[in-house]
Amino acid sequence: MKPEKHLEVLPKSIWVFHCNSGSCNGCDIEIVATISPRYDIERFGMKLVGTPRHADALLVTGPVTKYMTDRLRRIYAQIPDPKVVIVVGNCGCSGDVFYKSYNLDGPVDNIIPVDVYVNGCPPRPEAIIEGVAKAVLKLEKIRETLTVPKETPVVSAEPEEEYIHDA
Ligand code: SF4
Repeated sequence: MKPEKHLEVLPKSIWVFHCNSGSCNGCDIEIVATISPRYDIERFGMKLVGTPRHADALLVTGPVTKYMTDRLRRIYAQIPDPKVVIVVGNCGCSGDVFYKSYNLDGPVDNIIPVDVYVNGCPPRPEAIIEGVAKAVLKLEKIRETLTVPKETPVVSAEPEEEYIHDA
């Protein structure tokens, strides 16, 4: 994908919560590499956060083991709208070699809706950064649909009735 011109300036930082749904840790190490000084994705505004309640995006690695299915659903539900989901790695995208394994409920889009797929085993940090850029664009599109239409009547802050207080 060619980077979109308007991504030269990000409209807003994207805060990401990372969930390992049963990965071998290979994808997770590459995610750590993206925030290390060599790639330093934080300079573009992406920041890993410690709670889903602070996040704009959910980044999932791993093929979703049965143990993680409910946890993944609960994490997704805790992220406030608007939100996007990025899946990093072949396991989460398709199940890859674990596809239809007896102890999996995944891939991820069997459990929650997915907006961006980053393939690779594991994907390189450049691919993860590109995936985050796609997620920013998707998030902005969702935010545009949520803007208040101009014809919406403005609600007055003044109380409708005047209250008379006894002296
Ligand atoms: S995609 Fe590859 S590196 Fe990532 S969790 Fe699966 S096996 Fe590990």
